[in-house]
Amino acid sequence: MTPDEFRRYGYEVVDWIANYWANLETVPVSPDLRPGEIAARMPDRAPETGDDFAAILGDLDRVVTPGLTHWQHPAFFGYFPANTSGPSVLGDLVCAGLGVQGMLWLSSPAATEVETVVLDWLADLLDLPPAFRSRAGGGGVIQDSASSAALVATLAALHRASGGEWRRAGIRQRYTVYTSTQGHSSIEKAARIAGAGDANVRAVEVDDEYRMRPDALRAALDADRAAGCTPALVVATIGTTSTTAVDPLPEIGAICCEYGVWLHVDAAYAGAAAVCPELRWSHAGVEYADSYCFDPHKWLLTGFDCDAFWLADRAELVRALTVLPEFLRNAATESGEVIDYRDWQVPLGRRFRALKLWFVLRWYGAEGLRAHIRSSVTVAQRFAEWVRADGRFEIVAPHPFSLVCFRLRGADAPNEELLRAVNATGQAYLTHTKVGGRYVLRLAVGAPATEERHAAATWKLIQAAADGRVTGSR
Ligand SMILES: *Cc1c(COP(=O)(O)O)cnc(C)c1O
Repeated sequence: MTPDEFRRYGYEVVDWIANYWANLETVPVSPDLRPGEIAARMPDRAPETGDDFAAILGDLDRVVTPGLTHWQHPAFFGYFPANTSGPSVLGDLVCAGLGVQGMLWLSSPAATEVETVVLDWLADLLDLPPAFRSRAGGGGVIQDSASSAALVATLAALHRASGGEWRRAGIRQRYTVYTSTQGHSSIEKAARIAGAGDANVRAVEVDDEYRMRPDALRAALDADRAAGCTPALVVATIGTTSTTAVDPLPEIGAICCEYGVWLHVDAAYAGAAAVCPELRWSHAGVEYADSYCFDPHKWLLTGFDCDAFWLADRAELVRALTVLPEFLRNAATESGEVIDYRDWQVPLGRRFRALKLWFVLRWYGAEGLRAHIRSSVTVAQRFAEWVRADGRFEIVAPHPFSLVCFRLRGADAPNEELLRAVNATGQAYLTHTKVGGRYVLRLAVGAPATEERHAAATWKLIQAAADGRVTGSR
């Protein structure tokens, strides 16, 4: 494809995306499909000779979009949001066009330095502790996901807990990992990948608002020490996945200090809220963290993949992960004056993801980001008021951010049927969880296009379904 062809078709693709966004409200949020239906629309083999670009673009409409759940749809309320935005897409496009690798400072210096500065900016925007800034010996890096951040934090924690032995000799003792019963599944996965083993992950009990109980954490640490295990890592959560509970970091952090255990704070979804001063109470105690992450790709207008991960002391992570084959040796690395992000992550290669975040921060500004968070929170709080006013329903957990967990009072089965009926209309999309053993519906607000009227229409739909007046055709 020549640069001139790229220009022509590139404009067509941009038009296509703009039209996709402009028309989203008119299409069903989720598809009605049997497994294999999309694959059946594709030929068995890749073409022997190249296709016309028009045919490729046409197949987006024929094959792809009918098979999507539209996460940017204004009535998408499932899981947590996965925001994207114009500036994010354009920044990603530039990243793709440049096609540079930022594994070493030397391999493309701007890719490293822009990322370092943008993450320092973001640390300021969230008012994170001073230690997390690059000039203070900490610093931030973009991981693909909060799951990768958890893995990297686990590796650094094992390195610390073993006094560096882990790196040389592998796992030689039982290292234990702690999170609450509400902690994300990625923590167990990270412990498994790191070799610590599922059996050494402790699910610490929570209080009646689903927050980790510090006394239960201490008891678990003591029991493990007494049994000859070495506690390596505590993962506290700001904004748990099921209900957005906020673990009591000041108490948990003090315990981690006392026991010398690495504290990783997983704020995957709710970290974005800290751009708003009125929501920063959720980050009290974050100064105890050895590492902290949140996903701008969830709620901060930046497309997947973009997890912002900070360390209070970057040297600890670098010591755990660094490898230096001859072909990567260079004077800049040896000078010790540069950051080589390959030592902060699992892969060697890395793309210039900081561009999309840089575009987003500059286009929206801090005020624009705060406005997005506030609008989601306002809509969610309004929704909670409507639920509370209907005696058939109950709200099952505090909802300080933009997630509301609710259910019909009584048995689970009518709730399962309610969710099925609502989603089958294609007019809204919600998901569920289990809280305290009960089936619960989750309404998560955060798609950039969502306005109060979309939540209002969804609430009407939910009420109608509760009345048995919605019979989905699926
Ligand atoms: C969504 C979520 C994750 C996983 O996020 P990815 O970036 O998709 O890996 C981890 N922790 C919490 C609390 C989450 O809500």
